[in-house]
Amino acid sequence: DTPLMALRGVSQVFHTKGGDVPAVRDVSLEVGAGEVLCLVGESGCGKTTTARIAAGLARPSDGFVEYNGQDTRAMSADRQKDFRKAVQFVHQDPYASLNPIRSIFGALSAPLRRHGLAKSKKDAWEQAGRLLEQVDLTPAENFLPKFPHQLSGGQRQRVAVARSLALNPKLIIADEATSMLDVSIRVGVLRTLTKLRTELDVGFIFITHDLAIARYFGTGGKIAVMYLGRVVEYGDTAEVIENPQHPYTKALLAAVPEIDPEHRESHEHGLRSVDIPSLTALPSGCTFHPRCPLYRQGDCDTIEPRLIDMDDREVACHVVAPDPDLTVETEEAKS
Ligand code: SF4
Repeated sequence: DTPLMALRGVSQVFHTKGGDVPAVRDVSLEVGAGEVLCLVGESGCGKTTTARIAAGLARPSDGFVEYNGQDTRAMSADRQKDFRKAVQFVHQDPYASLNPIRSIFGALSAPLRRHGLAKSKKDAWEQAGRLLEQVDLTPAENFLPKFPHQLSGGQRQRVAVARSLALNPKLIIADEATSMLDVSIRVGVLRTLTKLRTELDVGFIFITHDLAIARYFGTGGKIAVMYLGRVVEYGDTAEVIENPQHPYTKALLAAVPEIDPEHRESHEHGLRSVDIPSLTALPSGCTFHPRCPLYRQGDCDTIEPRLIDMDDREVACHVVAPDPDLTVETEEAKS
């Protein structure tokens, strides 16, 4: 089956005064229609850059994005327009993503009018009301005339989600969409997103640093665990979370407290305690090796592991998923 969206060997290098920053390196991922793909990892792992590339908000330095099997770089202007309608981005910060001097009705009707989907102001009002109902902001007529500062953070994020639904998207890319909300409000927003997933059959690329949230929202879909710009484990969300294979995924999961996901210390990760390396000075070999509890001298600090197929998932680790090509080379060298 052709995936709804696919990233093919995507890399992104930012050229800064401090040197080149390889934010994303050779990432290939797929998400099918109506499916969820969670991108997880610590801040700086490249998940937001990957998401922005997927949404067409940034151009990769290398590799490309396919939508419905078509390379987005080769799309006609009309297809590009369809792509921009079909793929919507929900930002982390609901405060920044809404114009403070525009009413909620104004925010929701703008995309409807821009794309000729509302015949009149009355029609726009009714459609905007239905969008608010979809995100459980009711009664809608109470919210439509309000301005962003009159809403709570959770309500604002619901409006941002409603706006992303205005053009009947096929894929929503949600970047830490619930991370700025209080825990109790977060659960409500996650419930609404889960409902939308099933009711509207819309796919999600869901970015989070929080594996408890990935488990809640992403079960039934796929998960990609990213570290310093690369995917290190990629597979079915439930299987990866129940039975992690990569030492980094294991460490992240060991840090998920059952009760309070707000208070988490880095020493709980079970990692060797060193700072997360800088992207401008990546460690040699496996970039995780300075922190890895399984670190093995030799391959780990000289050769960067690639993702190896392990039946139910892909893992990039010399110890957990030995690269058959490297094994052959080593055997040949010995003989
Ligand atoms: Fe750890 Fe080596 Fe595997 Fe990297 S390749 S994750 S350093 S065991």
